[in-house]
Amino acid sequence: MSYVQNMAKGKRPAGSDKSAIITALPKACADEVTAVEFIESLRWSETGPCCQRCGDTDVYKMTDRTTGERNKRFLWKCNGCQKQYTVRVGTVMEDSRIPLRHWAYALWKSCSSKKGVSALQIKRETGLTYKSALFMMHRIRFGMAEDWTSQPKLSGTVESDETYVGGQPRYKQPRTGPRSGADRKMPVVSLVERGGNIRSFVTVDVTEANVGRILAENLSRDSHLMTDSSPIYRRSTIGKPIARHGMTDHSKGQYAKPDGTHSNTVESAFALLKRGIYETFHNVS
Ligand SMILES: [Zn+2]
Repeated sequence: MSYVQNMAKGKRPAGSDKSAIITALPKACADEVTAVEFIESLRWSETGPCCQRCGDTDVYKMTDRTTGERNKRFLWKCNGCQKQYTVRVGTVMEDSRIPLRHWAYALWKSCSSKKGVSALQIKRETGLTYKSALFMMHRIRFGMAEDWTSQPKLSGTVESDETYVGGQPRYKQPRTGPRSGADRKMPVVSLVERGGNIRSFVTVDVTEANVGRILAENLSRDSHLMTDSSPIYRRSTIGKPIARHGMTDHSKGQYAKPDGTHSNTVESAFALLKRGIYETFHNVS
């Protein structure tokens, strides 16, 4: 019995769920029925198929009167509130006519590509229009974004650094004003917990106030902050509320100190982001 059928019956496969999902995804991209059943099985794996309007589990799959097969729109009906719905309701796939096999494909590519996947690539591989592919990728990226406000603050050793993304080289601006040298790129501040998660923030300007606020909201006070010796850290009190703050001075060729102080982890994360922009996305707005 296939993974999808097992999931549909509410049975979770043995071993890692994540790897099982990645294995099942390519099959789901092949035809619409498999894709719908795959997404239904994932969505309702814990509750069983339930009404997206009232939560009732007394529901059934609607069938076509002539063929007896599943309804062409893959509708479900609730015996409680009598409303019809599909697995898309309440998800990023709602209000979209794009077949679920293409959604499954875009989800698969988004999860399995280290540097991400562009809408242009999805357009080429699915045959969708660029507009549809872009809509789908925006929705998927929105769905993947983490809500940090509900999560504990970063702790342990945390590296902080900033980089500039977006903008186009041909519009290079003269080095004047607060955003000089950034050639109209947007500053991104990232915090990386060593061996843990990364949190990135787009900010208008890299100032003591802005970076200080990001650190205060995301870093627990007992953590060990590591940064380069950019003026915002060197000449400010940003690191003061945090238990320890170590800096490396890149201008003196110092990238790591013997005591383990460095910001190479966050810089590697930026390198990956930049490669993704050059090789996959080409342009970021
Ligand atoms: Zn209902």
